[in-house]
Amino acid sequence: MPNPSLSSPAGCAMVDLFGRRIRYLRLSVTDRCDLRCVYCMGEDMTFMPRDQVLSLEELDRLASAFIALGVTKLRLTGGEPLVRRGILDLIASLSRHLNSGALQELTLTTNGTQLARHAEALALCGVRRLNVSLDTLDAARFHALTRRGSLAQVLDGIAAARAAGLKVKLNAVALAGSTEQEVFNLIAFAHGQGMDLTFIETMPLGDVGVDRIDQYLPLNVLRARIETRLSLTDTSERTGGPARYVRVAETGGRIGFITPMSHSFCESCNRVRVSATGVLHTCLGQEDAVDLKGPLRARGEEGLRAAIAGAIKAKPKGHDFVISRGGAPALARHMSVLGG
Ligand code: SAM
Ligand code: SF4
Repeated sequence: MPNPSLSSPAGCAMVDLFGRRIRYLRLSVTDRCDLRCVYCMGEDMTFMPRDQVLSLEELDRLASAFIALGVTKLRLTGGEPLVRRGILDLIASLSRHLNSGALQELTLTTNGTQLARHAEALALCGVRRLNVSLDTLDAARFHALTRRGSLAQVLDGIAAARAAGLKVKLNAVALAGSTEQEVFNLIAFAHGQGMDLTFIETMPLGDVGVDRIDQYLPLNVLRARIETRLSLTDTSERTGGPARYVRVAETGGRIGFITPMSHSFCESCNRVRVSATGVLHTCLGQEDAVDLKGPLRARGEEGLRAAIAGAIKAKPKGHDFVISRGGAPALARHMSVLGG
């Protein structure tokens, strides 16, 4: 018996009850990472048991099911996607959807530590753009914020990506006590090389061992700081995500602001997320979760697509994060489970 939600044109299965068409999948390929950023993870993390994590073949089938239903943009994330063993095989395989035209963009969010050795291969697979997370240009602060990382390694990675022809956008989480001091250096670094720079408000996901209120820097405060020296003009430019962009007169570059805390952007949300264990989350800021590993392993492609379509219909209207002193995390899940 055909499933009614699937007998309509493929894309209709991906329209939610609020009329939002889901075209964008963020797929976490691992919850593990070589860094321990202070806003993302605790010092001692318990990661998913390996047998619960989807195999590369399962990740491929899962992504392909979303693409068959109308997803046109796929972002691989993590944890750190480039530490997943065999990740380049997965990306090479997924690139067939770029070649067929079903997928318009295959991209990654990465911390950049492994980019120097993978950049060329990524470009050969049809990856055109990357988001690289970089919160500071101070080596000591980088080491402290990531609890172990090397700034030089990431800068080498960014250089290698650019040399391979990849367009790099930098993402920085706005952190009280650090970003205000660094903001002009970050802008000069990014815009000096023609890269967009986006600031993100820290979200209260998971226990990271520190009080979130001590980390939280509202972006209106950061913007006011930037405007003490630079002239910003709001633009209506969007890149398909939640960032609102301003143009900097002095550099000619763009700064994006992602404000999940102080300004909700849920009404235009076109994305869903799947964890490395095959759990579909249709809202980053809600507890809703639909297991896709079961259908993936048991029922074949039709059951899998039906599970996806059913979950899309139930996508929550939006989220409402609150950060308060001593408050519990809004959600127990860490950012590294879904990758932002
Ligand atoms: N490891 C990769 C990286 O760092 O780019 C991909 C995964 S990481 C979870 C994705 C993005 O989420 C990064 O830009 C990171 O800065 C951001 N992020 C992590 N924890 C966050 C939090 N609590 N609030 C806001 N952004 C966060
Ligand atoms: Fe790892 Fe990215 Fe989380 Fe940092 S933000 S700990 S690099 S997953």
